Parts: sequence; structure tokens; C-alpha cells
Amino acid sequence: MARRLFGASAVLLVSVLVAGTACTSPQNGRPSGVASPAVSTTSPSAHRGQARVTIFHATHFDGAWVLAGGQDFARRAALLRRLRAALPEPRNALVVGNGDDIDPGLGRGSYADYDFTVEHGPDVRGMYAFEAFNAIGLDAETYGFNELDWIDRLAPQLPNARFAMVSANVRDRATGQVFGAQYGALPWVIKEVAGVRFGITGAITAQGRAVPFVPTVEVVEPAQALTEQVPRMRAAGAEIIVVLSHLDTRTEAQRIARTVPGIDLILGTHIGEPLATPQRINATLLSVPDWGVGSFGDLDLTIRDGRIVDAELHQHTVDANEPPDPAVKRILDRYLPPAR
Ligand SMILES: [Zn+2]
Repeated sequence: MARRLFGASAVLLVSVLVAGTACTSPQNGRPSGVASPAVSTTSPSAHRGQARVTIFHATHFDGAWVLAGGQDFARRAALLRRLRAALPEPRNALVVGNGDDIDPGLGRGSYADYDFTVEHGPDVRGMYAFEAFNAIGLDAETYGFNELDWIDRLAPQLPNARFAMVSANVRDRATGQVFGAQYGALPWVIKEVAGVRFGITGAITAQGRAVPFVPTVEVVEPAQALTEQVPRMRAAGAEIIVVLSHLDTRTEAQRIARTVPGIDLILGTHIGEPLATPQRINATLLSVPDWGVGSFGDLDLTIRDGRIVDAELHQHTVDANEPPDPAVKRILDRYLPPAR
């Protein structure tokens, strides 16, 4: 189902052109293994004219990559591949995660008496996730709580990722940098798609269960962290600022949208119901399709002169009968715990 957001009033959103003339180029493939954000050289000017970019998003698998009912990541990958291939220009897309995806062992989830439980395969330090995310061409992921639980062992695995692990507010208490910077984690990354520079960061909630489990981790209040990072992303040439959200949509994400200037998109959630239609708060758009390994959305963006002028969300559900992506299925089969 397509849900139009801005429609005829879109022109009202065309407001401030991106400040700053700093030049960057997209970060292709793995981010460099250094602490500084992924900024390199020379794209001469901000994109002018109109572009259409699709962002596939909402992961939050709660660690379960295979569900008892038949939905799994290999079928999800096949659906994603079909949807992407059907775009007018398949290259003009981003695929992003928003955390709570990677446990040490591959998880099989099931519902019993309305309780969701996850059974884990052997501890392989998340290798199934790196292999499977690499296989689908994931562009960026952020730390959720499943990742925080074992982040001191996860971070050294990041050199296996061909996607960027980004977080504005999960920091190394000793250095103040993003946790895992020495392994390639980044506070943000810039990806150029269809000539538009997307600055992508992530943020985890500081409410409730936000206390880090690893003593060397510090979770900075997300609004504060984003207030620091967004101007840096803009100065580095980002035209569209994207926050991969592991936030509470109903409180924190809304407050951030109201109070932190310069954020275009907040994608996904940690807590809060899915939103049938993206919610616009000032100049920020919150997009929360249904999530989990069996669901995701695509957000079709029309971008004119570096600003989003139209956005349309489509919700997708993975069919348990979808033929699985063979390469991804082989990865899952290798790491899957046997069904009971
Ligand atoms: Zn979560």
C-alpha cells in the first residue's frame, strides 16, 4: 500500500539549502578503519535537479533471523532483491538496519502463549550476520541492545562488515569516540546515491534499559549526541541527514525531531508502534514500517535540489512461501540451530 506524505504541500518543504561548501564523496564499501568519519574527496557541488531514491529499512529482528512460521532472512533477502530489481533504477537505493539484529549465534524465534522466545545457535561472534548482511548489500547498521550486550566482542568483528556500523551516541568511555572506532565503526557515514549525499548516523535510546552492560561503553543522551554530530555531517557535505533509530518513537524520537535541527529522516524504532504513514514533525520525517525479519518498508523519496519534496512508504511482509535467496539460505543453513 502506498501512502503519500507531502503531496501538494511539498513545495513548502523546499526551504533552506544545505549550508556549507565542504566537499565529500560517498563512502563506497567498507569504511576505513580509522576513527574519523567517512569523509574523503571531491564531489564538486551539491546535487541539483530531481532524484528518486528508495530506502529499504526497519530491521530490529530481536536477534531472530529465522521464525518458526517460515519467514526468515533468506526469504526476506529474495523479496528485497525482487523489489530492488523492479525500481526504475535499482542502483538508486539504500538498505539500512536499525539495530537489535546481531547476537553471537544465529537466532530462531518462535511464539508460544504470546511470548516471543529466541533460541540461539553456537556462538560464532555474529559471523552469520556479517555474511548475510554483506550478501544483501546492506549499506549501514547501528547498535541496538542485542549488539550492546556483547559489544566488546562484536566490535573486533567489524572488519568483516562491508556495511558501515554507525552510531552518534554509543561511545568508548575511554576515548569519547564511537565504540569500536579502531575496528571501523563510525559516528556517521556519507553515501552518495543518485547524486545526492546522504549522511547516515544512528542513535540508541537513553531511556529505560539504556545502561550499558559493558563498562567501557558510554551511551550519550541521543539529542545531545545528534546536536553535536549533525552539523559535522552537514559541514562534510551531507544533504539529507538520516538517523537509524533505536529510540522510543513516541517520546525521544519526537522530541529529537522537534529540538535537533537539520535531521531529515528518523528511520525505524526501538519502542513504539509501527506508523502506517510517516509522521512529519517540523522538517523531520519519522518512518516506522513494521519490523522484524518478516517485515520491512521502502521509503520512496523524491529529492529536489538536495531536499526531500515527496516521500511515500510501502510496507512489505515476507511470505513464508517466498523462494529463499539461495546464497543467503546457504549462510543461514550453515549457522542455524536444529529445530526442536
Ligand atoms: Zn530494540
